[in-house]
Amino acid sequence: MTIDKPTRWSLDILFPSPDGPEFKKALGGLDRKVAKAEKSRRLLSPRISAAAFLKLIRQLEEIRSLARRLAAYAELHFCEDTQNPAAQTKLANTEQHMAEIENRLLFFSTWWKALPAAPARRLLALSGPYRYYLEQIRRMAPHTLSEPEEKVINLKNATGARALSTLYQAITNRYVFDLEIDGVRKQFSRAELTVYTRSPHAAMREASYRSLYSVYSREGPILGQIYSALIRDWRTENVRLRKFASPVAVRNLANDLPDKVVHLLLEVCRSNAPVFQKYFELKARKLGLSKLRRYDIYAPIASSEKQYSFGRAWDLVRRSFEAFDPAFASLAERVLADQRLDAEVRPGKRDGAFCMSVLPSLTPWVLTNFQGRAYDLATLAHELGHAVHALLAEDLPLFTYDASLPLAETASTFAEMLLVESLLKEETDGAVRRDLLFRQVDDAYATIMRQAFFALFEVEAHDAIGRGASVEDLCATYWENLQAQFGGSVELTEEFRWEWAAIPHFYEMPFYVYAYAFGQLLVLALFRQYQAEGAAFLPRFTRILSAGGSASPAAILKRAGIRIERAEFWQGGFDLLAQRISQLE
Ligand SMILES: [Zn+2]
Repeated sequence: MTIDKPTRWSLDILFPSPDGPEFKKALGGLDRKVAKAEKSRRLLSPRISAAAFLKLIRQLEEIRSLARRLAAYAELHFCEDTQNPAAQTKLANTEQHMAEIENRLLFFSTWWKALPAAPARRLLALSGPYRYYLEQIRRMAPHTLSEPEEKVINLKNATGARALSTLYQAITNRYVFDLEIDGVRKQFSRAELTVYTRSPHAAMREASYRSLYSVYSREGPILGQIYSALIRDWRTENVRLRKFASPVAVRNLANDLPDKVVHLLLEVCRSNAPVFQKYFELKARKLGLSKLRRYDIYAPIASSEKQYSFGRAWDLVRRSFEAFDPAFASLAERVLADQRLDAEVRPGKRDGAFCMSVLPSLTPWVLTNFQGRAYDLATLAHELGHAVHALLAEDLPLFTYDASLPLAETASTFAEMLLVESLLKEETDGAVRRDLLFRQVDDAYATIMRQAFFALFEVEAHDAIGRGASVEDLCATYWENLQAQFGGSVELTEEFRWEWAAIPHFYEMPFYVYAYAFGQLLVLALFRQYQAEGAAFLPRFTRILSAGGSASPAAILKRAGIRIERAEFWQGGFDLLAQRISQLE
């Protein structure tokens, strides 16, 4: 297949047009199916027959399929042109409609969660491919309170913890940051400011960080109070009332990862801090500095302005997949052949990139904004990796089709590594090679070590706040965390004591960040196995991907011979990184 310019997707297979009769008709059909399912409510009792139970689950699956088709169409149509008022309205209406449907169907999960163990076991044993989905719903059962208590928590959360978290967003989204560009003082949003932390000019990098933290250190005492209140609320609700063993155990249960695996992951990261410390020392030498400042962590080593046409980019990505596994490449080609790739840049189109897998029977939709830079190639490989992951899971029922959070980035990150590998093989331009290699390690730092130390800070901060720590104590805890992470390899300045106050995940989704380290390190460790074993690795990798979200991450990986409860496995990821870093010398 030859392609000369970025392609556009087609949504025809979902619905022929946004305002044709088909969409409306499907919405009507959905409502009728929901009404029918609601009638099955009376069948729900501990003595329900397996046949009736399975029939209801299939009914719910059909509803979910139709709902996803409608919601996906509204969303994808909106992404094509976010400035189109009709598309905005359609999306808002569809989202509201879907939320109402979710509410009407809540009766099933409420009943299933509360069902006593004996009948639940009987039904689970007969539930076939739906088993893990049903187990997931019941996972929270031991930590569920009585119905009136749950109601009170729900009601009070809207004006309590959720309101505080919204307040944090509202306050910090209003911040503007001063920065002088070519002698002119300008104001920037945080996203705009962050671009300058990667500037090739040392003074710009420093100025952008100083600007960021002059605001966060000034506002820190207030933001710290919001943080303390949220973390006390998290502890009171989850540890005291719901009887979780620790604050982090709540997130572990949501990710279906054993507490000891998460603990091990973080400890292996902590003990490998010297891997990146060596990297920062190397980076200082390459930049001609005696010591790297914290401001220089993301400084580019070589800047290559190399441009790729879309056809060339597609070909490079496809060939990198093919060299790994021809089946991988032909699945990626389905995205293009089925007209699911929207890569062109257009006014009003949603920015960034994503892959949306709608239903197991449909090739996923991929959106990117291709501008011909090396970065756009990596993005294309990443999103196509997601698509291949979904296509390999196409035989699963919808309820277990989506990979769970810890495994969601496996194929995408792996695909990026394949691309870099194959680019390095072909590339003769030294600047481009250096740029590729250093950027890869910079990214590994940002997703593995930085996030792991974030999570280590959260563990300590939750404990400290439980013992009544002040905001100033949190700054001291964070400072120690930075010292342990950088170990003298990087010159730290005082303003970084406030970095924790500027991380939205800490407020909105405690302990979420370790999933980034988990995913990226998992892929590095897998990649190392691939390098060692070659073709023998393929069936195991395919097995992981085709399991989608049909079992816990530990179970899926164990079937592929990977033991995440062993330190050696995680160490393998760091060994690969250390090897890469030594090649940069
Ligand atoms: Zn991704």
